[in-house]
Amino acid sequence: LFVENLSLGLIVYNDITILLIEITVIGTLAILLFAVSTLTIYLRGSYLTRKAFGVLDELTEKANNISSQNLNLRLNVNDSTDELIEIALTFNRMMDRIEKAYEKQNQFVSDASHELRTPISVIQGYARMLDRWGKDDKDILQESIQAIKKESENMQDLVEKLLFIARNDKDTLVLVKGRFNMSELIGELIRETILLETNHNIESHVEPEIMLDGDRDRIKQALRIFVDNALKYTETGKIITIKLTIEDNYAVVTVRDNGIGIPEEQLPNIFDRFFRVDASRERDKGGHGLGLSIARIIVLRHGGRIKVASKPGEGTRFKIYFPIDLPPSTSHSE
Ligand code: ADP
Repeated sequence: LFVENLSLGLIVYNDITILLIEITVIGTLAILLFAVSTLTIYLRGSYLTRKAFGVLDELTEKANNISSQNLNLRLNVNDSTDELIEIALTFNRMMDRIEKAYEKQNQFVSDASHELRTPISVIQGYARMLDRWGKDDKDILQESIQAIKKESENMQDLVEKLLFIARNDKDTLVLVKGRFNMSELIGELIRETILLETNHNIESHVEPEIMLDGDRDRIKQALRIFVDNALKYTETGKIITIKLTIEDNYAVVTVRDNGIGIPEEQLPNIFDRFFRVDASRERDKGGHGLGLSIARIIVLRHGGRIKVASKPGEGTRFKIYFPIDLPPSTSHSE
C-alpha cells in the first residue's frame, strides 16, 4: 500500500511538473511571440512613418521652392508607399496643370508682343519718312497719314481683342443677357454684309421668329467674325451663304463659303489663339488669328457649340448652335 501510494504520489508529482514545464514553455513562447510581433510592428511602423515623413518632407521642400523658374519640379513617386502615392500623383498632376497654364500664358504674351511689333515698326517707319521728306512732299505726307491711320486702327483692333480674351481668362467678361429675336439679328447681319460688301454674292435663308436668350451684341460680334472670314477667304464673285434654322433645340446659324478652304490637319487648330493657316498670306488680310478664338468664347459662354467642315479649294462651312431652351439667364459681373 505504501509503495502504491508512493508511486501514485510520484505520478501526480510528475504530472504537475510536466504541466508546470508546459505552462512555462507556452508562456515563454507567447511572450517571445508578443515581443517579436511588437518589434515587427514597431519597426514596420517606424519604417512606414519614416517613409511617409520622407515624402511629406520632400513635398514641403518642393512646395516651398516652387517658383516660375522651376515649374518642372515633381515628387518622386517610386519612393512613396501605397497610401502616399495618391498624394504624390495629385501633387504632380497639379504641377503639370500649373506648368501648362504658365507656358500658355507666356506664349500668349510673346505672341501678342510679336503682333504689336509689326504696326509699331510701320508707324515708326512712316514717322521717319515724314521727318525727312514729308514736310515738303504732299504725296509722302498723304501716304504716311493713310498708313499711320491704318496701322493705328490695326493696333487698336488687336488691343481690343487682347483685352476681350484677357477678360474672359480672368472671368470678368460681362455678358448682358436678355431675350431677343435671333431672326431679326441675322436679318440685320445679312443687310449690313450686303451693304458693305459688293464683291461677293450673298445668299440667305432665315426662319422667322426664332427667339434666343443671350447677349445680343456679343452674339452678333461672334457671327460677324464667321461672315468676315468667309468674305476674307473667298475669291470675289463667289457665293457666301448665311442661314438661320432650327435643329432639335438649337437655333443654328450656318455660314458657308466656296473659298480657299482649310486643310484637314489644320482644322483642330483654327480656334487657337494667334493661329493662322498661312501666317504671311493672312497678315495681308488684316487678321491676327484671334477672331475664331473670340467667337468660340462667345458661343461657349452661351452654352453653344461650333461645327466646321472644310475642303481646300472647295470651301468652308461653319455651323453655330445656340440652345433655345436656356435656364434663366445668368450674367457675370465685373
Ligand atoms: P484671322 O483674324 O487671321 O482671320 P481667325 O481666328 O478668324 O483669324 O481664323 C484663324 C485662321 O483660320 C485664319 O487665319 C484662316 O487661316 C482660317 N480660316 C478661318 N475662316 C476661314 C474660312 N472661312 N476659309 C478659309 N480659312 C479660314
